[in-house]
Parts: sequence; structure tokens; C-alpha cells
Amino acid sequence: MAFIEVKGITKKFGGLTAVDNVDFEIEQGKITAIIGPNGAGKSTFFNLINGFHKPTSGRILFEGKDITKIPVHKGAHLGIARTFQTTHLFEQSTVVDNVIVGHRLRTKSNLFDAVFRTRREKQEEKKAYEIAMGALEFVGMAHLADTPVSTITQEAKKRVAIALALATGPKVMFLDEPAAGINPEETDGLAQLMKKIAASGITVCTIEHKMQMIMGMADKIMVLNQGAKIAEGTPDEIKNNPVVIEAYLGG
Ligand code: ADP
Ligand code: MG
Repeated sequence: MAFIEVKGITKKFGGLTAVDNVDFEIEQGKITAIIGPNGAGKSTFFNLINGFHKPTSGRILFEGKDITKIPVHKGAHLGIARTFQTTHLFEQSTVVDNVIVGHRLRTKSNLFDAVFRTRREKQEEKKAYEIAMGALEFVGMAHLADTPVSTITQEAKKRVAIALALATGPKVMFLDEPAAGINPEETDGLAQLMKKIAASGITVCTIEHKMQMIMGMADKIMVLNQGAKIAEGTPDEIKNNPVVIEAYLGG
């Protein structure tokens, strides 16, 4: 049984086919990367697996269970976490508060529970704090715990967003362009962090534009172009695939 199995998934927005009949498997404990030109359907593919979008057709199985139609919070309960292309953090709150709130939003079934805390939940606050600090430690951001998000660097925000996902105790993390907008040195650091996450037993699936980063990191790569899967394989297989070279260089 595949860890995550996507079968013939299609997503149409009106007349536009954003994801076109894609079959794909994600292996547990590995780093899988999805690449492709802008508008290829990469983020939409993530949104389908996470339940943000419902597919027009096709199925998604998670550990053999059909999750095609489950809402986002149910996916979170099952252990599916994600980060976004643009980081969604509360700029005026501290780093640690962001991780705590993010944890609550994803582990509670609704916003009401997350915002209006019951007494029992208050007792759980200490535990939530410890989990958040553990996640910040893991991503190397514990020293910024009490700093307002608005004052930290772009790279630090990326790491905090990852901590937020880690704090939910996921089985798999989907990262949408985690290295966008950061410098090469920081990119290397993020690649190391993703390897560390995978080594800890959490499956990593990432979208990335930075080819070099992906080639040195991924176990398996899928290439999307105009919604369709045009190739999949190891970094070496992808690098030498004429169809991929054509899609990237042929315009
Ligand atoms: P990528 O992440 O590979 O750059 P996206 O998945 O964001 O690509 O987008 C794939 C295509 O679907 C694009 O043409 C985009 O404009 C379109 N698209 C994405 N989301 C929506 C939406 N919510 N409504 C309409 N069109 C969308
Ligand atoms: Mg995208």
C-alpha cells in the first residue's frame, strides 16, 4: 500500500484544467519534490491533497484511506500539514504565539475553539507552549520565540511557518516553495532542515523552483506542465529527461 496515492486527479476552474489526470505516489519517510513552470498546477495539486480544493475527478488515498472529500481540518487530524507559498503569520504576535495559535487552529475543529479558550484548554496551554518551543528548537528559531514576527527576516519567517506545521505532529508535510525569496546560503540551510525533518520520520513533499536545491535533496521528483505530469523519477533521471528539458527551455 502506498503512503499517499493520487489516482487520476483532475481540477478544473471553469474552462481551465489546472491539474490534468495526474497519477502519483508519495513514499513514506522520503523527500518528494514537485517542479514545473509557473501556472503548471503545483499549488493546486497540493490544495487537492490537503482538501482546500475538491477535485473535479479522481481519488486521493492516504494510508489506504480515501481522503478525496475530507475537509482541511480532518486532514490535519490525520497528520497532513502544509505551509503556503506566502507565509500566513500574525505579524504583530511573537514567534512562539504564532506557533501556538497555528497549532490550535489546526488541531481544533473550528476557529471558535481556537480563539475562545475553555478552562480545560487553558490547562492545555502549558503543553501547547512546550510543543511550540520544541518545534522552534527543531527549526533553529527558539532564540526568537519572544520576538514579534514583524521584526524577523524572511528566512526566519519561513522557518517559523515550518515550525507551525511541525507543531501539529504531522506524518507528512507539504511545503509550497519554502525557499522562495531567500538567498543561496539560506536556501542550503532550508534544504538541510528538510532533510532533518525527513530523517525524523516525517514525509516531506515540497514544491520548489530552485533546481539545484531539489537535485541535491529529493528522493523523487514529479514534473508538472500545464496541469499534466510529464515526468517522474530520481534527480538524475529528471535532469537527463528530454521532455523536461523541452518544457523548461523550449518555452
Ligand atoms: P503553480 O503553483 O504551478 O504556479 P497553480 O496551481 O497556482 O500553479 O495554478 C495553476 C493554474 O490554475 C493557473 O493557470 C492558475 O491561474 C489557475 N488557478 C489556480 N487557482 C485558481 C483558482 N482558485 N481559481 C481559478 N483559477 C485558479
Ligand atoms: Mg504555486
